[in-house]
Amino acid sequence: MDTPQELGEVCYVCKGRTRGGFVNFESVMKDGTPIIGIDTTPDRDFNVCDLCNIVVHFRCSMHPDLGYCDPCYAKVYEPKATGSSS
Ligand SMILES: [Zn+2]
Ligand SMILES: [Zn+2]
Repeated sequence: MDTPQELGEVCYVCKGRTRGGFVNFESVMKDGTPIIGIDTTPDRDFNVCDLCNIVVHFRCSMHPDLGYCDPCYAKVYEPKATGSSS
């Protein structure tokens, strides 16, 4: 069970397929209690935006570490950017 599930997610920016994803894992504790969870695969190269749930590559978003797509990042962190910069 080493192969990750193929979810076929598509990046909204470049329309390209994403790699990696989420896998279910099952385990059993010492006392016999089953554990079921979801983990991300090491080769995952995309985020699912926390706000709008769209899929975006790390490389296609400006702030992949925050878990937001660019439009949502702008909404959350850059309210009313007024004027022209530089
Ligand atoms: Zn992309
Ligand atoms: Zn978003």
